[in-house]
Order: sequence, then C-alpha cells, then structure tokens
Amino acid sequence: MNLPIYMDNASTTRTDPRVVEAMLPYFTEIYGNSASRNHAFGWAAEAGVDRAREQAASLIGAGPKEIVWTSGSTESNNLAIKGAAQMYAKAPVGEKGRGHIITCIIEHKAVLDPCKRLERDGFDVTYLEPGSNGIVTADLVRAAMRDDTILVTIMWANNEIGTINDIRSIGAVCREHGAVFHTDATQWVGKMPTDVERDNVDLMSWSSHKIYGPGGVGALYVRRRRPRVRLQAQLDGGGHERGMRSGTLNVPGIVGFGAACEICENEMESEGERLLALRLKMENELKGLMDVVEVNGHAEQRLPHLTNISFGFVEGESLMMGIKDIACSSGSACTSASLEPSYVLKGLGLGDELAHSSLRLSLGRWSTEEEVDFAIKSIHEAVEHLRVLSPLYDLHNEGIDITKIVWQSH
Ligand SMILES: *Cc1c(COP(=O)(O)O)cnc(C)c1O
Repeated sequence: MNLPIYMDNASTTRTDPRVVEAMLPYFTEIYGNSASRNHAFGWAAEAGVDRAREQAASLIGAGPKEIVWTSGSTESNNLAIKGAAQMYAKAPVGEKGRGHIITCIIEHKAVLDPCKRLERDGFDVTYLEPGSNGIVTADLVRAAMRDDTILVTIMWANNEIGTINDIRSIGAVCREHGAVFHTDATQWVGKMPTDVERDNVDLMSWSSHKIYGPGGVGALYVRRRRPRVRLQAQLDGGGHERGMRSGTLNVPGIVGFGAACEICENEMESEGERLLALRLKMENELKGLMDVVEVNGHAEQRLPHLTNISFGFVEGESLMMGIKDIACSSGSACTSASLEPSYVLKGLGLGDELAHSSLRLSLGRWSTEEEVDFAIKSIHEAVEHLRVLSPLYDLHNEGIDITKIVWQSH
C-alpha cells in the first residue's frame, strides 16, 4: 500500500489506463479537426467523436444526437440553466418577471451561481430546503411550482454527502407542469444506472474527470423529442454541436470520455457492490469504535462509494492534520483566506463546529480494503487523540449536556 491513500474520488478520479490507451492515437496520428469535412484527417477524427457520442448516449439511454460536448459539468450546467431560461423567458431582457426557476440550497456552485446570475437578469428563483436528510422530494418541488415556472434544476446525487434524489418523480412533476427539467448528474452517471427516458429527464450534465476519464471534457444531454428542448447558445462561433456549443472539439478528450463511459456501463454494477461493502465497513467500524460519530444525509438513499461523517468534540483543522496520509475533503470550504463551514452541511442544519469536523471520504475504482482499514485506524487514532485534549468531551462523558455551553461561547 502506497501513502498517501486517495479517498477524494468525488473531487476527481484517476484516469483509467484503458482510457489513456484509447486517447493516445488521437494526439499524434488521428489529429485532424473533427469539423474538417474535406479530408481523411477530419473524417478519422470525426469517426472517433461519433463513436464517443454513441458510448456516452448508451450509458444514459439517450440518442447520440442528444449529446452536446462541453468542457465539463460547470459548462454543461451553465449552458443548460442559462440556455433554457433565456430560451423560455416570458419577458425580454431588462424586464422583471421573466420566469420562475426552482433549485435547491445544497446544489453545487456550478448550479447555484448561474441561478444567481439569472436572478440579477430578471428571473425569480426558489431555493428549496431539503431538511436534515438532504433529500429533495417531488412533493417539495410540486409545492413550489407556479404558473410561470419554466425550469427546475435539482441534482441527482449530492457531491458532498452522496444523497440521491428521486429524479424520476421530480421529472414527472415537471412534465405535469410543463417545466423543463435539468439535473446535475455529475456524481451519479457512470456509478448508477441511468435512463433519461424512464427517469423523465430533459437536460442532464455530467463530467469525464469524475468517471475515470480525462479532465476538461463533459457532456450535456439535450432531449430531442417528447418534448424537444431548445437552448440559447452561450458561445458564439462556428456553430458546432448543432449550434449549441461552438468551438473546435477536444477530440482526444472526447474519445477518452467515451471510453470511460463504456467502461462504466460495463463495470458499474460490480464496482458499486464492491465499493458499497467498503463504505459500509468504514462507516460501521468508525461508529463502533467511537461515540458521537454521525453519518450525514439520508441513511439509505445514498451513493455506494461516498460517505460524509461528523466527529463530535474534535476541531476540524486538527483532525485533517492528524490524518495527513488520507487524501479526503473536510467540511470546511476553503474560500480565499477564510475557512468557511460547508454550506451543504449547514443546509442540513449542522452547526459550524460539527460541519468543520466532518470528513468526506469517497472511494473509487482502485480503493482497496487495506486502504479502508488504514483509514479507519488513522481516523480513530486522530479522533481519540484530540478528544483526550478536549475538556468538553470530558463533560460529555460525565453526562453533562454541553450543547448550550458550546453555543454560548459563540
Ligand atoms: C465536480 C462537480 C461539478 C463540476 O464539474 P466540472 O466538470 O469539474 O466542471 C458540478 N456538479 C457536481 C455535482 C460536481 O460534483
């Protein structure tokens, strides 16, 4: 086992060597511009892109013409959210009342920030609050629907806590109300079976580097029939990708993304089972070894490979320092110089202290049981060590409810 061990697969994944193998010829041999229609270099590149389009479409139950290549999920979300809002706006630019959008407070910033911009541009946005288990229900969405609701954007699985929303039911509510439904499926696609027909999805973002493909490539699924969804392009240029996303395609990256999609389609079931067993082991052993350990988000409705755990009575930064050999994320979002507690954990109702002393551990294709055992041992040792130094933990052990004392100190 090599140290440090990688348990941050929700941030990004190692590119699968099989993916790299598939990409290599497209740098030095098949190097044409896939938009060049006049020669064999262009045709060969286009054939690689077409194959990748089939592979990406197959993974999600779509048609190849419903795939738009982008630079990643941030761009896919921007194109979907701004592109749909602008296309279906009920009033011209500069006016108020351009239409209503529904999203949720624990979405990724790549959804929240485009929504905020649309608010400045005259749209109304409702930010749903999922409650302590992190699930956005179809009932919550239904209750927020208005006559002028044009777009709903709710993530499939949350990147910090791994909770899974019932996308099929939310999609059905959107259909009933005639609202376009977008889902940021970056943490879901490639890990769990996806069928945009069955699941009532109109627009869906996902990203290559989260599924063992290269960075800088992503896709947006855009429904073509029943109903056809139209988007306002966000880039003006050569009219690539059926006018929805101009720019010369990243052919090696797209070929790699396609290969990554195919591998996921073939292996997700066995991989998911294996990682689920490892994740459950990690959660159960950590909870068995220590008290005041909480798994954040819904207990069952969650991704197999990702967990987010709060450890009471330890200081977050010290905990991270104590587990230097484990590459993972903490419940602190490092924005500029200040250490802010995660808005996702706060959105579930966690206090600042507990949000800071939370770890997101995300397993991946090369995670081993040995690594999981090592992580359990390291985290256990670090937490115990810090609690020995904690007078509050002593009080807690004496049966004193210290919650009030903690809060009064703020
Ligand atoms: C990683 C991530 C993104 C951003 O994706 P990029 O491809 O890095 O732009 C957006 N949404 C979610 C849920 C993510 O996990």
